[in-house]
Amino acid sequence: MAADGERVAIVGAGLAGCLLAVLLGRRGIPVTVYERRPDPRIAGAERGRSINLAISARGLAALEQVGLRDQSLKQALPMHGRMVHPLPGAQNFQPYSADGERAINSISRAELNRSLLDTAEATPGVTLRFSQRVTGVDTEAGAILLEDAGAEPAGVVLAGDGAYSAVRRSMELDEDADFLEHGYKELTVPPRDGEFALDPDALHIWPRGTAMMIALPNLDRSFTCTLFWPKGDFGALDTPAKVTAHFERHYPDVAGLMPDLADDYELNPIGSLVTVRCRPWTRYGPGAKVALLGDAAHAIVPFFGQGANCAFEDCIEIDRCLAETGGDWGRALTLYQERRKANTDVIAEMALDNFVEMRDRVSSPVYRAKQAAAHALERRLAGRYVSRYELVSFSTMPYAEIPARIRRQNRALAGAVLGSAAVLGLGVRALLRRRR
Ligand code: FAD
Repeated sequence: MAADGERVAIVGAGLAGCLLAVLLGRRGIPVTVYERRPDPRIAGAERGRSINLAISARGLAALEQVGLRDQSLKQALPMHGRMVHPLPGAQNFQPYSADGERAINSISRAELNRSLLDTAEATPGVTLRFSQRVTGVDTEAGAILLEDAGAEPAGVVLAGDGAYSAVRRSMELDEDADFLEHGYKELTVPPRDGEFALDPDALHIWPRGTAMMIALPNLDRSFTCTLFWPKGDFGALDTPAKVTAHFERHYPDVAGLMPDLADDYELNPIGSLVTVRCRPWTRYGPGAKVALLGDAAHAIVPFFGQGANCAFEDCIEIDRCLAETGGDWGRALTLYQERRKANTDVIAEMALDNFVEMRDRVSSPVYRAKQAAAHALERRLAGRYVSRYELVSFSTMPYAEIPARIRRQNRALAGAVLGSAAVLGLGVRALLRRRR
């Protein structure tokens, strides 16, 4: 039983559900995890849903807490920057950090999920139940509702059942699911002569205005590409010849590296991209307390590579709040929501903003000059000037503190520039004229 004697259920054995199960099991709290799918370690991945993730500082810090950091890094490939493929023009590499040393890590979501499932299964007190679709929670009676097996008692329900969460729907919250007009489709660049066909040390981006393709490397020396495009446009390529011609025209440096392009394009599904904003994340009834976490609470678009990183932070926060409240679930879950909501709101906006940056700005010479200037400042003012990308991807500073920190830095910088101008005897007007 839980710290205060409740029977604890986790819905969803995805990334967040598994990590939370491990954390609670280690705290001596028995949990049952209900997962809709069959065991993916036996059933394998669905076609076109392989998704490799960029895991960065936040995700790694969370994995470290359950001893999975090093193992995960062994299954990952570091990417030290973006390789931008403009049209026309030569590809150019843009390092993620000022010193060029820091990297985000490309890891297969399925592999990471398998490691977490193995760890959860090996944790005393954790029970995994597959092929169990949860349809809702009865907070009066204290029960979790299963599609095929009726109701089962549960006093605490922690819902990590993803962006389209059935538990969230059953809670009838104040909810807004904001779908992008863009969808995505996975494609593959296989190894060429046994080697990577593109530079494996980079996240590749083909910015094309309304469309964008990215590619992340895999351990088997292939790349998983993800094409983002307005959903209505995918259908225009309705024959293999049209697919090939489109890629040869718009993605000429990679089209020839995709021998299965036409099949992948035809057979792989189009995924949706949604930002979920809802409140509250908790519901307490006489029989059960419910809380949402991960994508179920705050699905975000993938353009900052933070959805899973952020979901892992939720798990760490729930565990921390339980410790701080002496295992009082009601207080712990309320505290968890208070601490996380502002952070997840901020990363949701930054992720949307980054879409424009990736599909448009990265190829502009002005953007590249600004990036170079920002990195020069970071080197010069080490620790005092840190870019937004670094703060998001290479630190664990709460997301909600990042915008204010960036504003403070920019103010200080503007002050310093004006100060030096005064020393040099330049009038403010003259300086502003020069800045224009
Ligand atoms: P999920 O991983 O979706 O897990 C939910 C689990 O619940 C699943 O196992 C599902 O089968 C189960 N489930 C669903 N409904 C039920 C039910 N009714 N009953 C029982 N079980 C149920 N994040 C990053 O950090 N970096 C990236 O680079 C990145 N890239 C991405 C690229 C794309 C194209 C997409 C779509 C997402 C990307 N993300 C990335 C986001 C990341 O995949 C998610 O944020 C992360 O998987 C969320 O974890 P979760 O456990 O909350 O949900």
